[in-house]
Amino acid sequence: MQSMSHLTEDQLNDFRATLEAERDSLDEELAEHGKSVGGDWQGNKGGLEGGEADPTDAADSIEELVTNVPLVEELEKRRKEIEAALKKMDKGAYGHCDVCGAEVPTDRLEANPAAATCVAHAR
Ligand SMILES: [Zn+2]
Repeated sequence: MQSMSHLTEDQLNDFRATLEAERDSLDEELAEHGKSVGGDWQGNKGGLEGGEADPTDAADSIEELVTNVPLVEELEKRRKEIEAALKKMDKGAYGHCDVCGAEVPTDRLEANPAAATCVAHAR
């Protein structure tokens, strides 16, 4: 049986476990800092929506929003990279560059199991 990948079954299983664990911890962080709206994570707006907010609360909420939005965007971006890597794994394309199809070096995948490109096409 010919393997489609330069990675062994064991390596693939390890990378999958790492990716799934990171996805789970990202979900926890997203749940803590934001909320899911129609499948998209957004920064938690706290008490900004409706009601007669105490001016002090409103100030706190604005501060919270400013802090959370870039964080949530960062978390969401990382989560999408992980989802994409897991999808590639399901298709048997994991470990190959999105741009040229070359094998992504194993040490590069070990540094970042969600790496989608070879070194030459790194973004
Ligand atoms: Zn490439």
